[in-house]
Order: sequence, then structure tokens, then C-alpha cells
Amino acid sequence: MTTEKGWNLQNSYTELPDSFYTKTNPTDVEKPELVLYNEGLAKKLGLGANHDPGIFGGRTLPEGAEPIAQAYAGHQFGHFTMLGDGRAVLLGEQVTPGGKRFDIQLKGIGRTPFSRGGDGRATLGPMLREYIISEAMHGLGIPTNRSLAVALTGEYVQREDLLPGAVLTRVASSHLRIGTFQYAAGLQDHDQLKALADYAIERHYPEVRDSSHPYLAFFEKVIEQQAALIAQWQLVGFIHGVMNTDNMTISGETIDYGPCAFMDTYDPETVFSSIDRQGRYAYMNQPPIGAWNLARFAETLLPLFDENQEKAVELAQEAHAKYEKIYYSQWLEGMRKKLGMMTEEAQDEPLIDDLLEIMKNNKADYTQTFRALTLGRPDKTIMYGKSAFTNWHKQWKARLERQKTSENDVWDLMKQSNPSIIPRNHRVEEALEAAVENGDYQLVEKLLSVLADPYAYSKEQEVYAELPDPSTQPYRTFCG
Ligand code: AMP
Ligand code: MG
Ligand code: MG
Repeated sequence: MTTEKGWNLQNSYTELPDSFYTKTNPTDVEKPELVLYNEGLAKKLGLGANHDPGIFGGRTLPEGAEPIAQAYAGHQFGHFTMLGDGRAVLLGEQVTPGGKRFDIQLKGIGRTPFSRGGDGRATLGPMLREYIISEAMHGLGIPTNRSLAVALTGEYVQREDLLPGAVLTRVASSHLRIGTFQYAAGLQDHDQLKALADYAIERHYPEVRDSSHPYLAFFEKVIEQQAALIAQWQLVGFIHGVMNTDNMTISGETIDYGPCAFMDTYDPETVFSSIDRQGRYAYMNQPPIGAWNLARFAETLLPLFDENQEKAVELAQEAHAKYEKIYYSQWLEGMRKKLGMMTEEAQDEPLIDDLLEIMKNNKADYTQTFRALTLGRPDKTIMYGKSAFTNWHKQWKARLERQKTSENDVWDLMKQSNPSIIPRNHRVEEALEAAVENGDYQLVEKLLSVLADPYAYSKEQEVYAELPDPSTQPYRTFCG
């Protein structure tokens, strides 16, 4: 039943065994105040102009909500831990007018049974940052959870300083993670594991039910989605920063925008997160970490692959081996597009690798390089005039000549494949500062509006394409 304000919440997740969640109400807050509301997303969800700050601050529940904290486990920086929603609750699943189902989750709502030593709270800066970056990812066309609202709680939260508390409302195809399966496997109960797998299949990959081996086909679907997702991250220079198994979804959407950031200067070893001291989640490690996480996923599914353990492992390994091939072909296809290549030549990959090598040696900006090539302005890159680049540019031009496509088609393809702008760290920081320090949301709103279509190549985007002042480097991110 859809309510007057458009809420149409269902709760399919709570039909799983009780061990998968705990009923948890958000803690009431002093004075909820809505500071950001995503009108476009609200409309898609069927919510219309539903601006109730009480709901988005965790004070009042929309009709049909049955708040729960989800149980999960995960490998954090390689170490296995029991986790769960320590500062978030799932209100329910909004079924849209188009019949799609989305988790509505509030983050920063106070303690839950999974909070361990934490206070369950979130602060304004990181919640705004997550909102901006997740919406930017959506604008880039990369699968992601989305952000519906940020509300101030009217309370202060103790971090290093006292900071304004906030609640972020997130919207996702689901919050099923590899970590949810690790939790289920830990229960050592075949029926519960099977219930979770059946639920995930029903929700995300119903087509595999007709396969001769549905659980294996399910695993392969997740491999495909994650390989494609991580290839897209690499292609835009997105560094997730905390690719723990609990932050890797079954749906193939990006989640958990904590210490993430976009790379400026091209360097495969780039790490932004202050807690990632070993560089485990550096840019160049994202594809192999994806494979590592999917191997942990496979381990949880073994009992469903085959009763015979050896046979199950064999099946898992065979399927898992596909990840690398899918990732590589997605990446190569994406790189060809970024360089306007519409045909395939054997020498494409070395040509791409050469460019990346020259970029690295010259500390060229990743996004700006492809933008300059798209605009036909190689002189706009720091590499201009260097013989290695001049030589590369000639080879690239010759490569495009050989494919005999019109310049216009190449331009169109490159424009669609190379964002003119990304959420530059210095721009994000500047917008957050105005909002947090002065309660001025104009810069945040402006940033969100230009990032909604990063492929527009519009005049108003030009200032957002500018590079950061070198004095702001290296940039560091912290977990909110
Ligand atoms: P993350 O690094 O964001 O994936 O979070 C890891 C775990 O820490 C999850 O179980 C979170 O719910 C939990 N967590 C993070 N911050 C807090 C907090 N302030 N209070 C309680 N739990 C938290
Ligand atoms: Mg997480
Ligand atoms: Mg997080």
C-alpha cells in the first residue's frame, strides 16, 4: 500500500531467519533538520516532495518501516571479523511505481547491537562527502548506491573535536555483501546459507534459477558484475580505499564511501586513506583485491556447489578463473573507447600501456589527460613537447586514421567515455567547508549539479576541471 507521501515499504529481508538481523529503532535526536534532499531520486522512488526532516533524521518512522540492523562479517584489511550495521538501520525496501525494490537505509542513527565500542553516530562533513561522491559516481554511469537526504541531528558528536551530527539516507539495490555470506557460512547451518543464497538470487539474479547449476551461475553473475564494476573504477581513476569483503556487494553496486577519492596525478600506487598504511587498497591493487574477495565469497558457497568438497572446490576455481578475463576485457574495451578506438588491433594494448607509462613518468593528471585528448588539445597536458609523448601522439593519430571512422564519431565516443570533470578533492573540500563551517550549502548544490552530467563538456564545468594547487598534495582521507 502506497501512503499519501509515496512510501511503499516492504520487508522481504526480515523473512530470512532471525539470525540475519536484529530489530533496532533509530535513537531519537534533538532537532532533525533536512539540509540536502535529492528531488530527482525521490521522484524515481515515488516519494515526490516528501520533506519530513523527522524521517530523515531518524525521529519518526515512515509507514511500513520495520527498522533492522543487518548482521554480517568480513575480512577487514585481510583479517576476519564479525561486524554488522553498527550505526545504520534498514527501514525497509521501497517498491517504486515501476516495481523496482530499493533498500532505504539511515546511517548515523545511534547505537545498535552491532556497535561494539562505537557511538553509532556520524558527522556532517563525511555524510555530505558520501552524498556528493556517490551521486558523482551515479552521474558517471557507474553502479552505486545513491543518496537521498542528509539531515542534521541538532546534536554534537565527539570525534577529535565536537562536530555536528548528521544522518545520511542511502538507497541501494540491496545491502547484501560478501560479508553477509561470510556471516551465513559461519553459522554452519546449511539451511540458513541456502536461504540467504536463494534470497540473493531471487532479488538480484532471478534468471539463474533456470540454470542447470543455479548456485554456480549465481557466483558467476557476481563475478561478472564485480569485474565490470572494478574495471569502471579503474577507467575513471576511482580509488575505493576500503575494499573489505563487507564492503563488496552481491548486486555489483559500489557501497561504503568512507576514505575513497579520485586520483589526480596518475600513479598506480596511489593511496588516499590514512589507515591504509600498506597500500593494500592502492589503485593498482583494486582488480586483484576484487579477485581475492571473490575467492572468500566462493568459500562461503562451497556447500551449495557440491556435496563433495573436492568437486565443489574444483567448480569454484573454474568459475573464479573467469574474473580476470572478464575484468581485463572490460578494461581494454573501456580504454579503447577512451581513446576513440572503434575497431580492434593487436597493438592497442601496448599503445594504451605506453600512454599510461608516459603519464606516470610525467606525473600527468589522469582525468585531464583524457579530457585534453578528447578536446584535441594535447598542448593542455603536462606531457606536451616531451618526445615520448609526441611520438605516442603520432602513433595514436595513425591508429585512428586506420579505422576510417569520421572524426565526429571519434569525438562522440571519446566524449561519452572521458568525463570532463570528477569530484576533485579540493572542490569537494571547499564545498564541505562552506557547509560545515558556515551552514552554506550553495557550493555543495552547485557541485552536485555539475557532477550530475560529467560528460557534458559545458562551459560552466571548465572551472571544475582545473587541477588542484600542488600545495594541497598529497591528499589524505579519513574514515568518517
Ligand atoms: P566500514 O569501515 O565503514 O565498513 O565500517 C566497519 C564497521 O564499523 C561496520 O560494522 C560499521 O557499522 C562499524 N562502525 C563504523 N563507525 C561506527 C560508529 N561510529 N559506531 C558504531 N559502529 C561503527
Ligand atoms: Mg562498511
Ligand atoms: Mg564506512
